[in-house]
Amino acid sequence: MKDINVLVINCGSSSLKFQLINSKSEEVIAKGLCERIGIEGGKMTYSPAGGEKKETVTPMKNHTQAVGLVLDTLTDAEIGVVKSLDEIGAVGHRIVHGGEDFASSTIITQEVIKAIEKCNDLAPLHNPANLIGIRACMELMPKTPMAAVFDTAFHQTMPEEAYLYGIPYRYYEDYKIRRYGFHGTSHSYVSHRAAELLKREYEDLKIIVCHLGNGASISAIKNGRCVDTSMGLTPLEGLIMGTRSGDLDPAIIEFLCNKEGKSVNEILNVLNKESGVLGLSGGFSSDFRDLEKAYRAGDPAAIRTMKAFAYRVAKYVGAYTAAMNGVDVICFTAGIGENNPLTRTMVASHLGYLGIELDEEANAIRGEDVLISTPESRTKVFVIPTNEELAIARETVALI
Ligand code: ADP
Repeated sequence: MKDINVLVINCGSSSLKFQLINSKSEEVIAKGLCERIGIEGGKMTYSPAGGEKKETVTPMKNHTQAVGLVLDTLTDAEIGVVKSLDEIGAVGHRIVHGGEDFASSTIITQEVIKAIEKCNDLAPLHNPANLIGIRACMELMPKTPMAAVFDTAFHQTMPEEAYLYGIPYRYYEDYKIRRYGFHGTSHSYVSHRAAELLKREYEDLKIIVCHLGNGASISAIKNGRCVDTSMGLTPLEGLIMGTRSGDLDPAIIEFLCNKEGKSVNEILNVLNKESGVLGLSGGFSSDFRDLEKAYRAGDPAAIRTMKAFAYRVAKYVGAYTAAMNGVDVICFTAGIGENNPLTRTMVASHLGYLGIELDEEANAIRGEDVLISTPESRTKVFVIPTNEELAIARETVALI
């Protein structure tokens, strides 16, 4: 294994998350977050391994300034973790949408940048920000190799019948409207880890991964290939999420426009930001910690919300079991999947037909890979904490 430090960059429209990871030990050397880039109140949080967390309030006019600040901090004589930029051997960029052009990660070249730009239409909020991050890093580290790791790439193995929508085919031909899926790095990392934990060949397994965070998606991986996933053209489809609706009858949009006197854009904003468990709970909370507390106190809004959330997950598990003609292992990951035993129990309560039995003692363990099904359980159930940054660092090292 190569011994280099990889800087993993995840750029949002006004934020930049970073981790510096050593490829050999796979340890995080430092990590942090720049917030409010380009707007008032800019702030950087920086945590070197074993050192003190530091917050710097400083304006960042643009992403180039934010990357500059990150690099200055990482190489700072006092709080830095490397002596110079030469000790950063590569940069791995998380890119949200790779369209149909990218079925795997790739070294960034001018052609790759152009191809990512072509996908801006498909992810207008995310891809332009990702590109700004790439350009900022190239300007400040012109000689360092960089890789693009796509959220969509893992799902490119889906067969046509899974990625096509039932709309005129020319919309696919003309506009590339189809299911793409997201969270691919996480689905890939977790499913590979499940095979490792089971000591089985990845290619021999039927795996369902439930990535349940604020954004939530579920995927089916059969014989080493993703065959279906719940997010679609955009991350709005599929499961009920923190604030996103997930699946609904498309006619609801016109109905609401008429009833509420709102535009399509305004209703889409409601579906993205005011729906999901936040909307279902009557605006109570999008956070499962709040919801669980209220659920246990018998609050009807929290009860209906958590039940609907778990039911939707269970319904997808059923669909993907059918898609794969069986399932060997189900994995839970991300904020809720890793930290909310109650949600896992509620999902499993629908899955008796798969012979699933949870070991409630194991189900209470947190922060590590755990088999939460009993030895008798016909289908294995795991909690596997996801690690997208490590997966991006590994992909980057493999490419350079
Ligand atoms: P994203 O990366 O999509 O923003 P996360 O994977 O961080 O989301 O998940 C965030 C969600 O995880 C929170 O909304 C919260 O409901 C849930 N969560 C995080 N920690 C806990 C916890 N200790 N107990 C219950 N739920 C938790």
